[in-house]
Formats: sequence, structure tokens, C-alpha cells
Amino acid sequence: MKIAISSDNHLDVNRQDPDEIVSLQANYLNKQNVEYYLFAGDMFNDFQWLLCPVCGSKTRDRIKANTEMKNFPLYCPKCKKETIIAAVLCPKR
Ligand SMILES: [Zn+2]
Repeated sequence: MKIAISSDNHLDVNRQDPDEIVSLQANYLNKQNVEYYLFAGDMFNDFQWLLCPVCGSKTRDRIKANTEMKNFPLYCPKCKKETIIAAVLCPKR
């Protein structure tokens, strides 16, 4: 089983295009046959919409600083796929 983890991307602070970066990441994870993707938080500094690990689109779910998710069925309204995720946000430094 392959598991991938990422955190602290801070795309807004790092002045990266979220659509481009998330698409690149989703393609990479799919090519690597990753079965579980743990997004540990801080994709952005100010908001934390959960992004679909399959297509990279914004889902309808958000995560707050004190949210802990485990075995959460994240549904993507764009690609219509459900992915079981676990997610927590890392504390701001
Ligand atoms: Zn999707």
C-alpha cells in the first residue's frame, strides 16, 4: 500500500498558482498509484478547503485549525469520486 503525505505548501505565501500545483500533484499521485493521501494542512494560510486528491478540485468541505478527520469520505462534486481521507491542520508557526 502506498501512502502519500503533504503539508505546509502555503501556496498563497509562496505565490504559486493553486490550480496548476494541485493538478501537478494529483497527476503525480495517480502515476505513483498512491492509495491514501494525507493532506496535513496549511495548503493556504487563510482558508482550508479540502481539495479532491483525484482531480484537484475544491470540494464542499472545509477544515478548521482544530478539526481532526479520520476515515472521512470526501466526495468530489466535479469528478463524482469519493476518497477516504484523514486530515489535520498543522499548528501555525
Ligand atoms: Zn475530483
